[in-house]
This record gives sequence, C-alpha cells and structure tokens, in this order.
Amino acid sequence: MKREHLIKPLLNHHYPKISFGKGVFLYDDQGKAYLDASSGAVTAGIGHGVQEIIDAMQEQASKVSFVYRSQFTSEPAEELAKRLSDLAPGNDYWSFFVNSGSEATETAMKIAIQHWQEKGRPSKYKVLSRRMSYHGITLGALSMSGHFTRRRRFVPLLEDFPLVAPPYCYRCPMKLDPTACGQSCANDLETVIKRIGSEHIAAFIAEPIIGAAGGAVVPPDGYYERIMEICKRHEILFIADEVMTGIARTGTMFGMEHWGVQPDIIALGKGLSAGYTPMAATLAKDHVLEPILNGSKLVMSGHTYSANPLSAAVALAVLDYIEDQQLVKAAEDKGHYLRAALTKMSEGHEIIGDVRGKGLLAGLEFVADRQTKEPFPASKSLTTKLVERAFSKGLLIYPAAGGVDGEGDAIIIAPPFTISTEEIDLLVERLSEAITEVSQEVLGG
Ligand code: PMP
Repeated sequence: MKREHLIKPLLNHHYPKISFGKGVFLYDDQGKAYLDASSGAVTAGIGHGVQEIIDAMQEQASKVSFVYRSQFTSEPAEELAKRLSDLAPGNDYWSFFVNSGSEATETAMKIAIQHWQEKGRPSKYKVLSRRMSYHGITLGALSMSGHFTRRRRFVPLLEDFPLVAPPYCYRCPMKLDPTACGQSCANDLETVIKRIGSEHIAAFIAEPIIGAAGGAVVPPDGYYERIMEICKRHEILFIADEVMTGIARTGTMFGMEHWGVQPDIIALGKGLSAGYTPMAATLAKDHVLEPILNGSKLVMSGHTYSANPLSAAVALAVLDYIEDQQLVKAAEDKGHYLRAALTKMSEGHEIIGDVRGKGLLAGLEFVADRQTKEPFPASKSLTTKLVERAFSKGLLIYPAAGGVDGEGDAIIIAPPFTISTEEIDLLVERLSEAITEVSQEVLGG
C-alpha cells in the first residue's frame, strides 16, 4: 500500500478528492457529482462557489488577512460583532470570535464561569447539559456533552458535569406520554439543580434543536419557557449552542427565535462563514459581560486566529448574501417542502420511525419495528450503511445518533438554503433508493 501522510477520519478508507463545488453540488476529480444534502457538516448554508463570497475574500485579502487580536482590531471584526448583535434576540450582545464550534462552546463555558467569579461567587463553575447533546470535541466542550461514543476514550480527563433529561418525545426519557407529561424533562433540570446546589452551577447549555446526538430533535412547545424560568429562578446562565441551528438553518436567523428565548450566551459556528473560512463566535449579553467590564476587564480566553479579519469579512459577506437572497425565508419554505417530501417517502419505508426537524434541518430516525420503536442492533451499523450507500449514489447525508444514549440510528438532511424544489425531489429520490437497498440488506440477513 502507498505510504500516506494525511490523517483522515477513517485511516484505511478511500476518500475521493473534490475538485470544485457549485451550488448544491460537489464534483470529485473523477467527474462524479455529489448532491450536498448535508451542507458538509451542516455548514455550507449558502452553497458552494458563491462569487460574492469569493470577491469579498479577495478584497479583504488584498488589504490584510491577519492581525493579532492583542495588538489590533479590524473593521470587519468590529462590523461583524455589531451585525450579530443587531440580528440576535434582544440586540444587546458582545461577540468573542474563535475558529470552531468547539472553541465557541468552550469559550461560552469560560465566560459563564468568569461571570460568577467576578461577581464574587467562584463556587459556581459547573455547566449542566443534556444526555443527548454534542457541544464539541475539545475537552471542555466534551465535558459538557452527552455524546457517549465521542466521550468514551477521554472520560478520565473530563470534568464531572451532570446531565439532565433531553426533550425527546419520540422516546420519552421519563417513559411518559408526551401529551400528559407536565414537562417532566424540563423539570428534570430543576431536580438536578437541587441535587447539586445552584451555588455550584454556572450555566446550563442546550442545542435549540438536538443535532448530531439525536438527528434534528425538536423540543415540545413550552419546554424552553420552563427551562428559562428554572434557570432564572436558580441564577443559572442559559447558553444556547446554536453552532448547528444558527444563521438561518431552521428558518429563523437563530434557532431560539422559535421559542422567543433570549439566551444569556450564544455559541455560533458552521453556518456563520458557511464553510468558506474557519469562523465561530461566542455572543454574551451585556449583563453577562458587565461584571467582567467592571472587574478584571480581560475575558480569559482567545486564540491566535481569533477575530481574523479575512474570516470576519467572509462572515459579513455571508450575512449580506443571506439577506439579499432572502435565504431565511427560503430555509423556512424549502424546509416545509423537504419535510413533506420526506414524510411522503417514509410511507413506503417501514424502517423509518420518525420524520422531524425545522426549516432545512430535517431528521429521520430508523427503527426495526415501527410499533414498538425497537432500534436496530448496533451490529447492523444501519446509519453507517445508509450514509455509505447514499454516498455511492452521489448523495451526501449526515449521520447522527438516535436514542437517548446513542443506541439508535438517525440521519440529518440539511441542504444549502439555495436548493431548488427540483433538487429536493432528486435528493429524496436518491435517498429513497438508498433506504430501499439498505432495508433489504438489514432486514434480509
Ligand atoms: N456544537 C454543535 C451543536 C455542533 O453540532 C458541533 C459540530 N457538529 C459543535 C458544537 C462543534 O463544532 P466544531 O466541529 O466546529 O468544533
């Protein structure tokens, strides 16, 4: 075998080389086209090869690409912070720019801890999260994540942050009837707070809609109202991890807008620069920053590439493009079309247990038995088989864990907001073929 040097996700797997991308398609060096139904990792929200973004990159690169944030600020970084505050719920946010979703959630954790330290309450340092959650791969972010397969190898190094029940009505973690449960999963937050003591808790972090750890799981109405009420009463900051849901993905600029929530802190990534350059952000409300402004004045976090002018210019161009092309509305409208098509398709596939999501963040969960919702045994590797089969048909879909503790199978369908209805039809057609073939394989043997 030829000696290789690049560490890829699977070391012995062959990954095609991509030559270029245009719109919702990527083309490999053999000329094969892939319909990007997952926007990569739910990232390329405005599609590939958008000229306006390339122009903005060239313009900024010709001025300056890098300045060190401890020495200088830049026009694009200042403007992006202002723009995000104008867009975010309540319009009173500061931005701290980083380079990945993991850094954004980890910075959110550090700002929350520092907030309480500067208020003279250093014992408030734990961050609660949910059993079905993924907040990133770095050790702080993993400490706040309930994604068991990603945590397992590093458990001895992780902080012992408690997990609470997820709002997952399809398989209620409390084993209750969702129509008469009295928001038991939200109340679980209060149970855990009481057990630990709010004097030890800095924040609660949650994805508006559960992504990689669940497959576009949407909480029931009333859930976030209850969560916010509990957080407020116990003086716990609420961090919305909008890395996947933020920037138009769910048919609103921020996922939390669906429930009228103004998070104390917001983590953004992925769609912020739509994949054109690494860029992510932690937004914190005035009241969160105030004790730091009045205290040490230094937010104790940061990276060499933080607030990179080139990436900030790209993010601004992405926001312009989303506004000019009315892509927030497009994500909502196309989302309705996509979910209707997926629901119709599911009628012909017994192994589809649930179709869900909001905007262009759609999820499918797979079951061995629709009635009992029995998942397939892990040994069947259903999600992996499905992702591989779709890939061979030129369709990119995103694998997720299904089930409260990752014991099930789910996928995410999250194409760019620029996708046409004809392209959605093609997506569903290819997906349906892949599901038929994988069904035969897993049910037949
Ligand atoms: N939070 C959420 C909700 C995510 O979906 C992800 C990525 N899947 C992350 C954090 C981590 O982002 P990154 O991979 O850019 O570090």
